[in-house]
Amino acid sequence: MISEFARLIDIPKEELLGKRRSQRLDNARQLLWKKMRQNGYTVTWIAELFHRTHSSVSKGIQRSQFLLETGDRLVTYWNQKTESLTLDSIDMSERKEIIEIRTPRYITRVRQMETYTFRGFSCPCCSGRGYTSVEIGKDEWRDDACAICGGTGALEADVIIQWVAKNDDRDKNNAPEVSRI
Ligand SMILES: [Zn+2]
Repeated sequence: MISEFARLIDIPKEELLGKRRSQRLDNARQLLWKKMRQNGYTVTWIAELFHRTHSSVSKGIQRSQFLLETGDRLVTYWNQKTESLTLDSIDMSERKEIIEIRTPRYITRVRQMETYTFRGFSCPCCSGRGYTSVEIGKDEWRDDACAICGGTGALEADVIIQWVAKNDDRDKNNAPEVSRI
């Protein structure tokens, strides 16, 4: 999404992600943050990507909103140019999630498994389009539903944590057991 945004408003991506400040760059960056926020990025995540504090991102988004409301010409123009940027074109390869692993407070022999589902990843196989194009003749293409994401364009990650008893033998073999449920 950042690359696409940079291309549309004709400012290098490195400049947008960089530290350098000018009114033009600030306005562009803040509009990008606002769009990212609308497309499901969290403020924390944006702050991390741009090496800014949570509050400067949050204020920047408000400022961008204000500039649009008061009809700032350049920001309004950029906003129109980048209108088509949606969740589909988010570069999800930039996305990361962190799980903190702690022993649960209550654990029983029956409930030793925890599952976490992370949603909203764009399918890398079809780039989030949901289909892949196959050439069937000269200048003739057929769109097939993507086999990886089942035509949805999105993937989810199921992370399963299984609590097991300490087992030194397993450490020696260095082969973690993977069980499918
Ligand atoms: Zn796919």
